[in-house]
Amino acid sequence: MPSLGLFITGTDTGVGKTAVAIAIAAERRAAGVRVGVYKPVASGVVFDGSSDIERLWEAAGRPLTLAEVCPQAFAAAIAPVQAAAVEGKRVDEQLLRDGIGPWREACECVVVEGAGGLFSPLGEQSLNVDLARDLGLPLVIVDAARLGMIGRTLTVVRAARAEGLEVAEVVISHVQPLAGSPDDPTSEAGIVRHGVEELMRRLPPVPVRELGYHSLHE
Ligand SMILES: [Mg+2]
Repeated sequence: MPSLGLFITGTDTGVGKTAVAIAIAAERRAAGVRVGVYKPVASGVVFDGSSDIERLWEAAGRPLTLAEVCPQAFAAAIAPVQAAAVEGKRVDEQLLRDGIGPWREACECVVVEGAGGLFSPLGEQSLNVDLARDLGLPLVIVDAARLGMIGRTLTVVRAARAEGLEVAEVVISHVQPLAGSPDDPTSEAGIVRHGVEELMRRLPPVPVRELGYHSLHE
């Protein structure tokens, strides 16, 4: 029986997807759920104990193996197809889809972290949106807590729906500490407070939450 899961995607690269995937995996695990973590392809990977893949695996309680967390990991910190090519390889499109198999057998919930944004390429053919659809998973859409978050987030939510995908949650991720006070509308903190409130007003029934900087980096 296929297990439940979530596909973590973003409005762009560098918006805090991994931190959100880690937080969700840790929450599920703390709730007693057997949680899996799957990164279909990753680039810029150095296995030094602090790579995204290792951090995801730790958050889930080290289930299965690191090679099953990410069956296709490449060293160059560029897009996956180009990072594979640097090593004389190609992204295996079928493995992107089949790599979730062991997790579906072993776990009750699989947290899948895409690469880049929803319409970023994963392989020569597949975009993130294609894989999310083929895996049959609802999306968690992540954006960074900074100016422009309303427009970026609504664009991706609407594009996802136009592709027939379900949006389970929006998470605004603090990728850096925010200056100023939430009560000052001209400060970074005030801009983010307004942005989150505006998204909460416009997105129901989709829940919107913030993941604070400290909760990401402790
Ligand atoms: Mg990441």
